[in-house]
Amino acid sequence: MPNVTIHCHAELNDFLPRDRQDTPFTVPWVDNGSIKNLIESVGVPHPEIGLLLVNNAAVDFTYLVQPGDQIEVSPSSGSSAGGAQPAVRLRPPLTTTRFILDTHLGRLAGYLRMLGFDTLYRNDFDDPELARLAHDQTRILLTRDIGLLKRSLVIYGYFVRATDPERQLREVAQRFNLAHAAASFERCMRCNGLVQRVDKAQIDHLLEPRTRQYYHVFHQCRECGQIYWQGSHFARMQAVIERVMQAKHDE
Ligand SMILES: [Zn+2]
Repeated sequence: MPNVTIHCHAELNDFLPRDRQDTPFTVPWVDNGSIKNLIESVGVPHPEIGLLLVNNAAVDFTYLVQPGDQIEVSPSSGSSAGGAQPAVRLRPPLTTTRFILDTHLGRLAGYLRMLGFDTLYRNDFDDPELARLAHDQTRILLTRDIGLLKRSLVIYGYFVRATDPERQLREVAQRFNLAHAAASFERCMRCNGLVQRVDKAQIDHLLEPRTRQYYHVFHQCRECGQIYWQGSHFARMQAVIERVMQAKHDE
């Protein structure tokens, strides 16, 4: 029975059992099977793949695997912009960095919004809806569900390895080169709306007495009306973001 050889590189090994990590391994050849289906069948979701080489030549996802092929699979490079472009593009380059997150990533959604990124998140999106919205709105799907990433509608996506929200932010910041994004009170953590400075006089009647007494600089969401001030959870989350961005800076 003919075989093909697959060798996965770098963080793509996270999807493989230990005995297949960082080493070429063989799988049975399947007649008329695309390379995309073959690689996903061994565990690696297609949005994580940045470069496919077959017998040292770049191919795209539609390539039909031949008996004896030697396949090299590499991850997407860290940045969505810049860097060397592969000879064969697996997907069009992203022009904007926008996200959609699955229902388990609410805290990460808040952090990304605080960084100013347009981030779609609701705790009641189901898998087909997430895939369709990611596709239709050209958003990067961040998820802890590998099966969701394998849906063919998903073009841009990433499996978030960490479970701790602060580590998740660090991971996504590195993967998508977000280090230069400024946490600038631009977006509402609650609803993704744009946030603007607001005069205290305008919202004075909405404030708790202690907040009114001690705080003077306020921002308000244009969509949902949420009010933010230094000392609210907004400020605590900004401290997390500064830690993460600082860690990146020190590397
Ligand atoms: Zn809002």
